[in-house]
Amino acid sequence: MIQLQNLSLDKKYLDQLKKTQDEINKETTYEAQIGKAEDFWKSRKNNKAFAKIKELLTKMCSGVQRCCYCEDSRADEIEHFKPKVIFPENCFDWDNYLYACGICNGPKNNKFAIFRETDNEFQDITPPHPSKRGSEYIPTRPPEGDPALINPRISNPMDFMELDIINTFKFSPISEDKTSQAYQMAIYTIETLGLNDRADMPKARRNAFNDYFSRFYYYNGEKVNNADATQLQKLQECILKNRHPTVWKEMIRWYNDPNLNKGLEKHCNSLYVLFKNNPEVLNW
Ligand SMILES: [Zn+2]
Repeated sequence: MIQLQNLSLDKKYLDQLKKTQDEINKETTYEAQIGKAEDFWKSRKNNKAFAKIKELLTKMCSGVQRCCYCEDSRADEIEHFKPKVIFPENCFDWDNYLYACGICNGPKNNKFAIFRETDNEFQDITPPHPSKRGSEYIPTRPPEGDPALINPRISNPMDFMELDIINTFKFSPISEDKTSQAYQMAIYTIETLGLNDRADMPKARRNAFNDYFSRFYYYNGEKVNNADATQLQKLQECILKNRHPTVWKEMIRWYNDPNLNKGLEKHCNSLYVLFKNNPEVLNW
């Protein structure tokens, strides 16, 4: 996961969203607000703002309309970062939208957790599945607290997680302090989105690594053969628009980070040498 460019929605569309959101907020009970949010969401196609919202979310995607979480599949579902069945007040809230794929959106669904103010541990506030709710079930508004899930529109996920690009191609927390919020956010995000558990994901990242490496190797060869600036720029775009941008950014981190640099030199020397000979790519 990488941090996404956070684009602004025009005021006229924000106003259209607000009008719908105000209708939801007018409901006097939390339960009624949830019901209305779900009904309005189902009929959102009538809201003209959504064509523009999809266009902007597409621009904000990593690579070519790739999912903001897994970076592999096509992003085609508007995902509420804060689930609408827990936070109906954020149902028609531009800042709460991300573009994700169905494979990520499915398991994440209504899962959410927040940090309690009393201690440093997070509290799961996922509502029970409808099949497990008794007839007496009445939803209650969650307490205030910061989300445990990393929001790529606000934070840089790479500040929390690192990817092993030598062996496993799995994510792990950067912080070693298990009691820190940063560590817990990394774990919660990795587990909730299944970033390591979906067997195809580490494989896809390894393929992406080989692909980035090949493209970089080709770029280096063309440069040595005096390719012109336009040709080199095209090759640069071929690298920057590829799937799994985290893999490329992680390759750069391994070269730049003094703690990882020696590992790269030892275990993937040909990549190390490519970076050494083409330092301009570190600033792309
Ligand atoms: Zn996905």
